Amino acid sequence: MNPHVAMNVPLRRSLLGRLLAALCCVAFISVAGLGLAAYMSERSALRQQIYAQLIIIADFKKGFTALWLAERRADTQLLASNKLNQEHFSDLLSPATSSEEKASLLDSLVDSMHLLQQSRPGYSQIVMADVHGVIRAATDPTLIGQSIADDEAFIHTMAAPDGQYTQDLYLHPETGRPEMKFGHVMHAATANDVEPQPAVLGAVILTVDAEQSLFRLIDLGPGLGSTGETMLVRSEGDTTVFLNNTRFAPEAALNLRLRQGTPEAYLATLAANAVEGIQQATDYRGQEVLAAIRYIPQLQWGLVVKIDDNEILAPVYRLTFRLVMVAGVVIVLAVLVSWALARTLIKPLTQLVRATQAVASGDLRTPIAVQRQDELGALAGAFREMVTALDQRQRQLEAAHAEVAAFAEKNVELVQQLRELNASLEEKVAERTQELAAANARLRELDRLKSKFVSNVSHELRSPITSLRGFLELMKINPAKQEQYLALMNAQVDLLGRYIEEILELSRLEQQREHLVFAPLDFNPLVASVVATYQPQAEAAGLRLIFRPDPGPLQVRGNEEELAHLVVNLVANAVNYTPEGSITVITQADPGGVQFVVQDTGIGIPDEDLPHIFERFYRGQNAIQSQIRGTGLGLGIVKEIVQLHGGTIQVDSQVGRGTIFRVWLPSDPGPARRRQSMAAPTVDLKPGD
Ligand code: ADP
Repeated sequence: MNPHVAMNVPLRRSLLGRLLAALCCVAFISVAGLGLAAYMSERSALRQQIYAQLIIIADFKKGFTALWLAERRADTQLLASNKLNQEHFSDLLSPATSSEEKASLLDSLVDSMHLLQQSRPGYSQIVMADVHGVIRAATDPTLIGQSIADDEAFIHTMAAPDGQYTQDLYLHPETGRPEMKFGHVMHAATANDVEPQPAVLGAVILTVDAEQSLFRLIDLGPGLGSTGETMLVRSEGDTTVFLNNTRFAPEAALNLRLRQGTPEAYLATLAANAVEGIQQATDYRGQEVLAAIRYIPQLQWGLVVKIDDNEILAPVYRLTFRLVMVAGVVIVLAVLVSWALARTLIKPLTQLVRATQAVASGDLRTPIAVQRQDELGALAGAFREMVTALDQRQRQLEAAHAEVAAFAEKNVELVQQLRELNASLEEKVAERTQELAAANARLRELDRLKSKFVSNVSHELRSPITSLRGFLELMKINPAKQEQYLALMNAQVDLLGRYIEEILELSRLEQQREHLVFAPLDFNPLVASVVATYQPQAEAAGLRLIFRPDPGPLQVRGNEEELAHLVVNLVANAVNYTPEGSITVITQADPGGVQFVVQDTGIGIPDEDLPHIFERFYRGQNAIQSQIRGTGLGLGIVKEIVQLHGGTIQVDSQVGRGTIFRVWLPSDPGPARRRQSMAAPTVDLKPGD
């Protein structure tokens, strides 16, 4: 199992991630809640404060404008009503006054005008005109003598019931500057008898540069910030006209005209139409503003004191920004604190997860490095105890497993040994069984042979005995032929003797099978002796009996008497079954033993007899037909002797041409005899081999 699985849990699904998210949410919600509450209350408080401020400023400016108006009117009236001025102007107009006096009077009047002009900014021109409109005294001496009879201010002043007139704001036709004119009728200082009312001397016309005086003063005032504006407006038909230049419209005076009903003209139109109050609306620039509206009835002017919404809310925005910053810092701190807190909680859990994975993968030795005093420490302790118990259990299991494995290994060895023993036992049993079977078969064969032998013996013995009995009877009947019969009987007795002899030989061989004494001997002399014995018989039969011995001594380990029997039987048969010709006896050394050959030129053995000639009492057709007497036991004895000596015998014969018997005898028949004791040796009886 991968030991880093715990680290692969996506953050958003991990405990750490969830804890972080929860803590961040709590921090964010609290900061955002506090911020929102602060924002709402601050915003409304600010609005209230600005409302009050705007109203105060607007009222102040309304009062200030009215004061300004009254002051201008009062100054005009002062010039016109001043007793000294009245007297001087009156004297100036009088034809009785001399030129010098007039010049002095004019100086005096102009001085008073200058005095006033110097004390008030924006008093651009002051003139005193007679009833005909001719300027008699002026701050500008060049104007003296000019007529203002057509001047609107002069006409309205002279016609005014209360003797004073204020000409509304206009633009000077030449300079283009905004001006106002204040006019006041000038009376004579005292009444006389002819005219109970003081006589009208003319009018004082004061021209005020609005830009220099009113507009500057109107513009002044703290509390309007960087976007605050004060606008003087008046209504002209369906148009609202801006009277003063403002911060954002420096050339507005009488040049900025807005059609009433448009959104831009909304606030100014309200003011121009004597609606007072506080408004939040769009101003002539299309900006959202908060405005206090006042009306100055003396001039039928509207007054709008306004400030941009943005500026009002700037502190709120600043506050909001600060709150956001604080929230950010708080959240970052919360994340850091949460992270640190979460890590201290998650780290031991991660270690426990790793330890669990290690245990799951079979590693019980990795120590769990959680050292805490809290519940996680207790959990780690419990886990450690569990792992220790598991480790002990595993060790016990491993030990038990090792024991079982060792036992199993031993068991396997034992089983293997048992199997091997079993196999060798089975092999031995099979071997023994085979030996027993062979011995049994041999015993049975022997038994069968014995029965057959006994029956053959009794059968074979019966015929000579029967012959003897017959000859005896014949002798009784015909005593004359006694001699002849006795000869015949002698032959039968010989045969009987041979039978008995050979039967005895066979039984002796069988009896001595295990106890026959073997000794080393030279085979040549043995054969030579037999050949010499049969030499006379051969010669008598006209046969040549030749012996070709091996030149050296032929060492054979065997029983001399039995080997002599073997040679006798083969040589005798050769002499018996050879009517003419020769018999050759050969001995020669052969690898591991001796070869002994008896070759004759006799009648030969038919093929059908060859397989049987070594059987006891078997006589070949050739022997019977040739009336050659025999017992049929000779070759059986030969076969027995060859077997006892561990040798082999072969026969090769052709009818009418002769027969060859080849015997091979080992130098030491020990092993062969041992073999022979267990199983009958095979004797190849095929002729010609
Ligand atoms: P027998 O007494 O008949 O010779 P043997 O056992 O010696 O008995 O021989 C068995 C038979 O083998 C003989 O009857 C004969 O038919 C045949 N036989 C043995 N030797 C010779 C031989 N040299 N030539 C021809 N036939 C032979």
